[in-house]
Amino acid sequence: MADFPLQENVSLSKYTTFKVGGLARYFIECKSIEQVKNVTSWAKEKALPIFVLADGSNVIVSEKGFDGLVMRIKIEFVKIKDNILEAGPATSMEELVNQTVDKELSGIEWAGGLPGSFAGAIRGNAGAFGGEIKDTISEVKSISLVTGKEIIRNNTQCKFGYRHSIYKELANEVIVSAKLKLNKGDRDELRKIADSRIEYRRQRHPLDLPNSGSIFKNTPVDNIPSDQLDQWKDNIKTDPFPVVPTAKIIADAGLQGLKIGGAQVSTKHSNYIVNLGGATGEDIYELIKKIKAVVYEKYGVELEVEPELLGF
Ligand SMILES: Cc1cc2nc3c(=O)[nH]c(=O)nc-3n(C[C@H](O)[C@H](O)[C@H](O)COP(=O)(O)OP(=O)(O)OC[C@H]3O[C@@H](n4cnc5c(N)ncnc54)[C@H](O)[C@@H]3O)c2cc1C
Repeated sequence: MADFPLQENVSLSKYTTFKVGGLARYFIECKSIEQVKNVTSWAKEKALPIFVLADGSNVIVSEKGFDGLVMRIKIEFVKIKDNILEAGPATSMEELVNQTVDKELSGIEWAGGLPGSFAGAIRGNAGAFGGEIKDTISEVKSISLVTGKEIIRNNTQCKFGYRHSIYKELANEVIVSAKLKLNKGDRDELRKIADSRIEYRRQRHPLDLPNSGSIFKNTPVDNIPSDQLDQWKDNIKTDPFPVVPTAKIIADAGLQGLKIGGAQVSTKHSNYIVNLGGATGEDIYELIKKIKAVVYEKYGVELEVEPELLGF
């Protein structure tokens, strides 16, 4: 057995905000870069696939679980010097928003109420209310799971796009820290913005039931057949480029409230699926497939799933 605190047959439902998912054959929480490296070589020797997990707010896991090693990164720290913030991957976005507001630094106040970790936000270039994490990233440090080497990338090298970064392309790197370049701001003003985002989410999103945020990305106007676009011309918003909110498309398709097993298209926000209690990963996956099929049949629009799907 390895000489680090490895667990076996751990239910992943405890580690996802959807509260679904089967067993991970091996599971470990890594608190240092050194541990990430050791655990990686151990897994390599055993030829085990690795899945990196943070707060699980953007992952849907099958009941089949994961026949490999789930490495939950728990490296947390925040250092702020002048207008540069450096933080560990597991630091929550909530903590980063609070600390930057306190230090009167502007740049991530749009992320008020955004669940999940710093690394999760970087990997998916999380964004909301016109802001994206890429707007402030100056540098990201990762470790290759293949060579164990550290790699530093600047903003351009991170290849950020809409809910995208190079870390989505390279499944074999773990983000271990990153830096943000921020601007001077006013504490009260920043607090007001962050709080208004938190309140907006509280009012409009089904936060009382387990979910993983938006199930589909918003739909780029360019992906909508020209004979369909007219019906949504008043709904087009620029965030970060012209899109039709997928919530509107799903609602218009009459899918709000649709249930499969314990999973339901939220009646509060139609681009959320909620776990009514006892949903399985497969219920959610089947509901996703159903929504995609109905929307495609009705409007010729191809919806793109936002969370990471594991084991389907
Ligand atoms: C209620 C709710 C609202 C949400 N609202 C938004 C929103 O407005 N905008 C938005 O963009 N997202 C939103 N999300 C989705 C989610 O919060 C973000 O995607 C978040 O950044 C994911 O972070 P996490 O720590 O939970 O990542 P996880 O779900 O744990 O992981 C996500 C992906 O990142 C990878 N990963 C995790 N850590 C690392 C690491 N250290 N190195 C490399 N890869 C890693 C994982 O392998 C996985 O593929 C919402 C989710 C919920 C539940």
